[in-house]
Amino acid sequence: MPYVITSACVDVNDKSCVEECPVDCIYEGQRKSYINPRECIDCGACEPVCPVEAIYQDRRVPESEAAYIADNQAFFVEVLEGRDEPLGDPGGARKVGDLGTDTELVKGV
Ligand code: SF4
Ligand code: SF4
Repeated sequence: MPYVITSACVDVNDKSCVEECPVDCIYEGQRKSYINPRECIDCGACEPVCPVEAIYQDRRVPESEAAYIADNQAFFVEVLEGRDEPLGDPGGARKVGDLGTDTELVKGV
């Protein structure tokens, strides 16, 4: 059950959670960050450090934020603007740095 970043992160994106993640699976978009659901080990370390309480385990995401469960995955399986192929599972956010773009859902927030 991976953790998920919801809408409260949009335009905050301060990366406090990134510092806590032991497997470096929180990737930086332009306005929001995204947890790779295939790389997340469900440790929960990121959740309490978020200043806007944007992070939930997927089964605890509020109904009003449910679209962000699929949207976190979409960041990795869909082709992002300016790229030729999906990001996939890079095995570490530091390797790829700031992706500089967002999913269509987040662009429209
Ligand atoms: S739950 Fe753990 S592994 Fe998953 S994103 Fe948060 S800190 Fe990283
Ligand atoms: S700590 Fe919260 S607001 Fe900051 S990047 Fe992570 S999810 Fe977004």
